[in-house]
This record gives sequence, structure tokens and C-alpha cells, in this order.
Amino acid sequence: MRVGIGHDLHRLRPGGPLRIGGIDIPHDREAIGHSDGDSLLHAVIDALLGAAALGDVGQMFPDTDPANRGRDSTEMLAAALEAVAALGWKIVNIDCIIFVQRPKLLTHRLSIRQRLADILGIDLERVGLQAKTGEGIGSIGLEKAVAAQCVVLLGERDEG
Ligand SMILES: [Zn+2]
Repeated sequence: MRVGIGHDLHRLRPGGPLRIGGIDIPHDREAIGHSDGDSLLHAVIDALLGAAALGDVGQMFPDTDPANRGRDSTEMLAAALEAVAALGWKIVNIDCIIFVQRPKLLTHRLSIRQRLADILGIDLERVGLQAKTGEGIGSIGLEKAVAAQCVVLLGERDEG
């Protein structure tokens, strides 16, 4: 088995919607990023690549490459998953935390988990998701940033 950890943060600016976990959430702020600014998916990618010692999202998709501008992070996650699977690993489970002051994510939690499960090709019960605010202080609390953390456990794929 292998464990990996990922962390990502994006600055926020007035606009919308807010993309979290491949889902566009109606909001009055949006993430700034070279790609689509999806901090949750970037944290999942880094956790996956980290568990397989394949580097990180910046290495696999450099922001100096124009092809990655505005790129859909679900596509990047699929490519990372493929690279990990090619080494003989499959996901046992993932657990993630989103840090954002607003909006309240409770009503979106199931759809984000379902989207993650679909992209990763695993059961919903293998995808944990927690949401935290910034308690009104710091970059998260003052709504200047959105961040995410993820841990992933990989196990060996059964052959045949
Ligand atoms: Zn990112």
C-alpha cells in the first residue's frame, strides 16, 4: 500500500462561479489560476502522484505550457490516475478537506463526492469530504483564497 498527501490554494476574485471538485458552484467569487483553479482536484492530483512518487501537478502540467491555460482539471486528474494505474496501483480510498469561508458547502457535498467518485472510477463510500471555514481570519476567512487538502491510499491492482 502507498499513502499520498496533496495541498493546493488559489486566490479568489469577484466573479463566479466557484469551481470545486469539478462542479461549478454559484457564487460571487471565483478562483484565479492558470488552469480552471480547481483547488480540490489539484490536491487530489498531488496526493495521487505523491503516493506513486510521480512528482506533482506542476511537473506533469507546467504552467509555462500554453496547452494548460484554462485547462479542465478533471482531464488532468484522469491523466494522473492513468499514470498511477500504469504502475499497478488502484485507489483504496481518499479523504479531502475544502477550506472556504463561503459559500456553505453542505448542500453541495454529495454532488462533489459523487463527481470525484465518477472521475476516479471508485465507489462513493470510498470518497470522504469535509468542509471548513477560515473562522473569519486569514486568507481563507477573509475570502481571499480557497484551499484544499487530500490524502489518498493506494493498493495493488489485482491482475487479470
Ligand atoms: Zn491549483
